[in-house]
Amino acid sequence: MQGVAIRRDAPIRLYKFTEYFRGFDGVQVVRDLFGDATEKVLNDLSVEFYSSRWGYMGVSEEDGHLMVSTYYLRNGDERELYLDVIHELVHVKQYLDGRKFFPEGIDYPDLPTEIEAYGIAVREARRIGLMEEEILEYLRVPWMDEEDYQRLLTNLGMEVASTSDK
Ligand SMILES: [Zn+2]
Repeated sequence: MQGVAIRRDAPIRLYKFTEYFRGFDGVQVVRDLFGDATEKVLNDLSVEFYSSRWGYMGVSEEDGHLMVSTYYLRNGDERELYLDVIHELVHVKQYLDGRKFFPEGIDYPDLPTEIEAYGIAVREARRIGLMEEEILEYLRVPWMDEEDYQRLLTNLGMEVASTSDK
């Protein structure tokens, strides 16, 4: 285009995960993921903060760093933030294992990487005392419609709440 110039090499600011998320090396489910490498993995992990109101957390497919919405970090429920970190650490492990998060042709609720991450988060949710209804609510995320949501629950082996007999 004439008259404009767009620089494409915008920098990403990365911070140390452990500066913002402390004590995760002492969480059993995290130790189960990384074993003896737990401290090293968490110490080496970087986190990027972005200011969009939309979105929660994710892991970069390019280099495995954590991405966190500052809006969510400020306003999210503490237990849900905790469970999201656990979920994302599963993706960090998957990244380190060289797995692809989004292989083509598989819908989100059927992705083995997501089923694994949600499954571990759900087990952890039960361990920290969330009620089953709270877990079902936690799993209701804006990027899944009702059909996807029900499919994820089925894939997780969870009780599917009947909506047809209302
Ligand atoms: Zn995920």
